[in-house]
Amino acid sequence: MALHTVDVDRSDPEYRAWLKEAVRKVQADANRSADTHLLRFPLPEEWGIDLYLKDESTHPTGSLKHRLARSLFLYGLCNGWIRPGKPVIEASSGSTAVSEAYFAKLIGVPFIAVMSRTTSRAKIELIEFHGGRCHLVDDPCEVYDVSARLAEETGGHYMDQFTYAERATDWRGNNNIAESVFAQLELEPHPEPAWIVATAGTGGTSATIARYVHYMQFDTRICVADPENSCFFDGWVNSDPDATCPSGSRIEGIGRPRMEPSFVPGALDRMMKVPDAASIAAVRILEDALGKKAGASTGTGLWGALRIVAEMRAAGQAGSVVTLICDPGDRYLDKYYSDAWLAEHGIDIDPYVAELEEFLAGTSIGLG
Ligand SMILES: *Cc1c(COP(=O)(O)O)cnc(C)c1O
Repeated sequence: MALHTVDVDRSDPEYRAWLKEAVRKVQADANRSADTHLLRFPLPEEWGIDLYLKDESTHPTGSLKHRLARSLFLYGLCNGWIRPGKPVIEASSGSTAVSEAYFAKLIGVPFIAVMSRTTSRAKIELIEFHGGRCHLVDDPCEVYDVSARLAEETGGHYMDQFTYAERATDWRGNNNIAESVFAQLELEPHPEPAWIVATAGTGGTSATIARYVHYMQFDTRICVADPENSCFFDGWVNSDPDATCPSGSRIEGIGRPRMEPSFVPGALDRMMKVPDAASIAAVRILEDALGKKAGASTGTGLWGALRIVAEMRAAGQAGSVVTLICDPGDRYLDKYYSDAWLAEHGIDIDPYVAELEEFLAGTSIGLG
C-alpha cells in the first residue's frame, strides 16, 4: 500500500499580515531617507590629493549603525526570526542598540540592549528615548552569553550583529554605503579612490566596502584602522582566527575582544593599529577643519587616512582617499572632549595634535 503524504500547514494569516506591515514600515523609513553627505576635508591644493569623509552621523539615529539596524531588521523579519510581541535583544557597545531601538519601536516590538557598564550615559539615554531597555554588564565579554540567555528566557530574538552584520547587508549594491560613496565621487577629480579607510566593530562596514570594490573590479584598496584594545590587528597580521584581547576598547564602537564572525579579513589589503591618543587628537583636528565634533572611531579612521595621504604625498602620487564620520561627538562630551576624562585615563593627545597640525600646515611630511 502506498504511503500517504504527510502535510503540516502552519500558515498564519495574522502573522503574515503583521510581517508584511513590519517590512513595509522599515522599507518606508528607508524610502523617506536622504543619502548621507560625502564631505571634503581641506588639504593644501598643491598636494593634488583629495580626502573625503562619508558623514554617517546624519542618519536619524546618528550613526552608521542606522544602515546596519535596517538590514538586520529586514533580515530577521524575512527569516521569520522577529515575531510580534517578542523582544529583540542585542549585544552592543551602544550605537547599534540606539538604531535597533528605533526600528523596534517602528515595528512595535520590545527591545533590550545588553551593554558594558562603561557605555556613555548619552547613549544609554538615547536607547531609552527610543523606548529600549538597557541591561548593563560589568565584563564586556559577557554581552554575547547574556543576550543569548535573555532571548531564551523571553522567547525573543538575539539579533547578534557580530555574526550577522556582513551577511545582512547586500554587498553587491542596492544602496549600500560603498555604492553610495562611488556614486558621490563620480564628478570628482579622482573618482576612484586610491584607498578607503574604515574601522571595525562588527567588521560589517569594511566587509561591505571591500566586497563591493572587488565585485566592481575597482583598483581601490581597503585599509582598516584598529584601536589599541582590539584583537583585529593581531588576528589579521598573524592570520589567527582565535586572537583575543583581554581589555575592553576605549574607542566606543570599534575594537573587539575576539575575532568577530562578521569581520572578513581576507577581503582587506591593509591594517593599522592606531594609538587611542592619536584617534582622539584626530577628532579634535576634524573639529578645527570642518566645525564638526565626531566620536573617537572617526578619529581612528581619519588618522589612518591622513597617514596614507602623507605616504601618497611623499611618493608624489595624486589621487583621493575616503574615510567615514561614524557618529557625532556630542555623545562623548564627557569622554573624548573632556580633558578631565583624558587625564583620568592617562591619555596625552598633545603630541599627536602637534603632529597633525604640522603635517596639515605642510611643515612636516609624515605621521608616526
Ligand atoms: C559600529 C561602529 C563602527 C564600525 O562599524 P562596523 O561596521 O560595525 O565594523 C565605527 N564607529 C562607530 C561609532 C560604530 O558604532
